Amino acid sequence: MALIDEIKIYIKAGKGGDGVVRWRHEKGKPLCGPSGGNGGRGGDVYAEAVSDIGLLSSYSGLKEFKAEEGQAGMKDSCHGKAGEDFTVKVPQGSILTNLKTGEKHFLNIKGERVMLLKGGRGGVGNEFFKSSINTSPEEFTVGERGEEGEFLIELEMFADVGLVGLPNAGKSSLLNAITNAHAKVGNYAFTTLEPNLGALFEFIIADIPGLIEGANEGKGLGIKFLKHIKRTKMLVHLISAENENMTETYQTVRNEVLAFEDEMKDKKEYVVISKSDMVDEETLNKKVSEIKKLVSPVHVLSILDDKSVKEFIDGLVKELRK
Ligand code: GDP
Ligand code: MG
Repeated sequence: MALIDEIKIYIKAGKGGDGVVRWRHEKGKPLCGPSGGNGGRGGDVYAEAVSDIGLLSSYSGLKEFKAEEGQAGMKDSCHGKAGEDFTVKVPQGSILTNLKTGEKHFLNIKGERVMLLKGGRGGVGNEFFKSSINTSPEEFTVGERGEEGEFLIELEMFADVGLVGLPNAGKSSLLNAITNAHAKVGNYAFTTLEPNLGALFEFIIADIPGLIEGANEGKGLGIKFLKHIKRTKMLVHLISAENENMTETYQTVRNEVLAFEDEMKDKKEYVVISKSDMVDEETLNKKVSEIKKLVSPVHVLSILDDKSVKEFIDGLVKELRK
């Protein structure tokens, strides 16, 4: 499953509590003037940015988000309690659009908070209407409805790292092994038509669709893919140890990446020989030295070998934090 980066939700602020009609009672005197209290205000709705980029996925089943209603007024001039505010948490980098008004809110950094919808005012009780000419008012008002509406949440997210390599190089498997992503793994080309994203600490890793010759002409690749590969800080280039011709395989992918976008040559490339468990040690060493003639350093890993994955993560994160 790719990370959800766009979702619509319906949000309601709380209705104000109603005012009420009540009468003061004193011993022996049944009706001593109005005492109906005001309703509490309805809760407001806020949005707040948090660091969890996967959060929108947890909203996909939920239809409605709402703040609490204000309580109705009470006897003895008591006012109803205000409704609790409600906070919609969104991943940092989200843009929230009120689809009714078109108003946009940008929540770029963790902790940022904006009010989206205002709760309704509470109604007033009959005590409010008391005056010298109207000592026993029967009037009251009901609480105002809270604002409500549909919001579009879009997560603008750019990958820090793009995983590239021929189909079957083990990109999706590696993404799944090092992040919270659940990318489809398969022994065939184009399991990934859109980039799958996962988070490794503060870094976003994108599994870029299997590059094959001609991929730069747009085969199966959408605009979303483009935006990600362009903005990455670094590419991790995976070459499976199963490949018969390592040099050619490396060059094929490298040419594809460069043909796709010339600026790519300036990006740091982290070369990985993947699926190292698939060949014997002697063959592996030969393949590593073949690639080392072209680039260095070269990292070797197998997702079946936790230690090699951990070393890969450590090395990658060190590079990214430079
Ligand atoms: P992608 O096309 O580059 O995304 O490659 P996938 O992650 O879909 O992997 C292709 C195939 O290789 C799948 O059958 C995986 O189970 C397998 N695979 C991936 N990594 C490894 C590895 O380190 N060792 C072994 N033995 N198989 C792997
Ligand atoms: Mg894949």
